Amino acid sequence: MKTEVYTIENPEGPLSERDLAMIARCGDIIKKGGLVAFPTETVYGLGGDALNPASAEKIYAAKGRPSDNPLIVHICEIQAIEKIAQDIPEEARILAERFWPGPLTMILRARDIVPRKTTGGLDTVAVRMPSDVTAREFIKASGGYIAAPSANISGKPSPTTAGYVLEDMDGRIDAVIDGGAGAIGLESTIVDLAGDRIQVLRPGYITDHMLSEALGINVGTDPALLDPNCKERPKAPGMRYRHYAPKGEVIPVRGSADRVFTYITEGLAKAKLEGRKTGVFCSADNADRYDADVVRSAGALDDAEAAAHVFYTTLRDMDDEDVDIIYVENFTDLGFGEALWNRLLKSAGSKWEEA
Ligand code: AMP
Ligand code: MG
Repeated sequence: MKTEVYTIENPEGPLSERDLAMIARCGDIIKKGGLVAFPTETVYGLGGDALNPASAEKIYAAKGRPSDNPLIVHICEIQAIEKIAQDIPEEARILAERFWPGPLTMILRARDIVPRKTTGGLDTVAVRMPSDVTAREFIKASGGYIAAPSANISGKPSPTTAGYVLEDMDGRIDAVIDGGAGAIGLESTIVDLAGDRIQVLRPGYITDHMLSEALGINVGTDPALLDPNCKERPKAPGMRYRHYAPKGEVIPVRGSADRVFTYITEGLAKAKLEGRKTGVFCSADNADRYDADVVRSAGALDDAEAAAHVFYTTLRDMDDEDVDIIYVENFTDLGFGEALWNRLLKSAGSKWEEA
């Protein structure tokens, strides 16, 4: 299969006539049961018709994803939830009004119209309305319901550009809409509104604190996410799998900034002696201080947004450069930093080192 690339002239909007025509063509591909990768404000999604079980099957096959790991249904207007979800609690309506369009996915009780292939066999459905202009136009052109996981081969870092989508998906899908780099860089927050209590199943840009404030209750996070040794399994099936992993070994280092710097410097020297190709992901201040083969940096240690924005790109770059060992400085794990730490820990196989 040849994968067409459609490059959007004006991804931030207003979309040009030419952009709209390309998006309409991609909508037709979806309606005929094909797959199209598309930009969102988080990462690139691998889209298929959410109401067509054959499309869901194709998505799992293209990604090499286990079919018990459900897909997120993307919509382009709030009312669309009525068709795919039932028993929608008042809290879901409040969160939709407050955070949609945006990087928040809600788990709701599914209606029968949603194929169980899309929900990974569950009777709940994950729903999100992205803020990205191109994404919303594409969803509209496709009939309004796009099932889309991240557009990477299962287990690899999520793609933040069309180039990275092609690295994994060229020849496996019908088309990619190239809308530049997503603003956020990490996947959406997932919040469960179908269970006994409202809780975050995957941290993201919309923090548990922001959700608590909007609802006037204390919204916690699935305990299995906070403690890698927790006996309970994560409630979002996707959080149980190894994820976001580059080929090289990822080593997050925790501790005070000084100690972390010394620890990583010594680690790099040792790795070099062993003949390993070395990499570091660090704050901008320290970029010139490390002696590594590949150094990538972002903002300050307390700037989760800057680090998250380039995190997956950095991991993919390290792979392109065949780096064997990747040290990562102690970026904040507060606020949006909780999502960054969650993805970093997964990419490292749930381990870190203390400086
Ligand atoms: P991705 O789009 O690649 O980030 O994958 C979608 C994520 O949403 C995975 O972690 C899924 O396990 C999660 N997810 C989708 N549907 C549900 C659901 N009904 N209940 C819990 N988690 C879900
Ligand atoms: Mg994913």
